[in-house]
Amino acid sequence: MADPEGGKVSFAAAALGKCPVCTQGKLYKSYLKVEDSCAVCGQNFKAADTGDGPVVFVILIAGFLACAGLLTTFFLYPGWSITTHLLIWPAVAVVTSLVLMPVLKSLMIASQLRNKVRD
Ligand SMILES: [Zn+2]
Repeated sequence: MADPEGGKVSFAAAALGKCPVCTQGKLYKSYLKVEDSCAVCGQNFKAADTGDGPVVFVILIAGFLACAGLLTTFFLYPGWSITTHLLIWPAVAVVTSLVLMPVLKSLMIASQLRNKVRD
């Protein structure tokens, strides 16, 4: 098993869904299901359990973007109906959450590997 010596993990590779240690192997086997270990370097991902950690950041970021967008357009474009706002901003929140979730989970896994979390 590879060991990220000296905290050498790549947060950029992790954000792209790659192994944060070797930057070659896959981190996910499906949308949010993490591989047991890296197929290239053998890094064990079982110890890196993020739990609900990334969800907090996803809620904060997506909620901020949707609320800021709603308030901005509500005052800048008073002609938009409430229905228009109700069609746009919940969809923005959902899409932003779906895009951010694997990215933030990857970053949290990389952070745990860097700080040598063990099970
Ligand atoms: Zn790897």
